[in-house]
Amino acid sequence: MLIYPHHTGEPTDYPTRKDFFVSKAGTEKGSGLFTRRAFRKGELMARFTGEVLDKVRLHTLQISPTQHLHDPHFVGYLLHSCEPNVALDMKTLTMWAVKEIAPGEALTMDYTSTEDVLYRQFPCLCEAKDCRKWITGRLEPMNQEGCVYLHTLNRPTANAKIYAHA
Ligand SMILES: [Zn+2]
Repeated sequence: MLIYPHHTGEPTDYPTRKDFFVSKAGTEKGSGLFTRRAFRKGELMARFTGEVLDKVRLHTLQISPTQHLHDPHFVGYLLHSCEPNVALDMKTLTMWAVKEIAPGEALTMDYTSTEDVLYRQFPCLCEAKDCRKWITGRLEPMNQEGCVYLHTLNRPTANAKIYAHA
């Protein structure tokens, strides 16, 4: 059964529930897109689709500075990782495996790879070796919340001292 409700009928390379599922509460990070099957590095995983909007919203991915694909069924649920296992080609609307992927894995992309400006900036807990800790779009400055967050992260000793005196 296809994941997109408006695409039923003849076989396509749109994603099916046999291969993928969206969990709305399955991870500590919230909703996420998961695979039921393995993919090889470099493999085409699925084609995706959606409605083209002129603004960034929750579950949109940027096609161009003025076009944002709203897909609340599939790629809109990809979680962020600074070391992702999936990459999106926003010209051909295709999703590719950039690592070996095992059944049951959460699928992740780097939001900065597609977005100039995020719907909202957020702290990253992906645990990648080069995790950027605070995620922004590729063309926007870090907001004040991000500056404060990183400042706090980078001063563990100072915090420990405050704690010791408390
Ligand atoms: Zn990260």
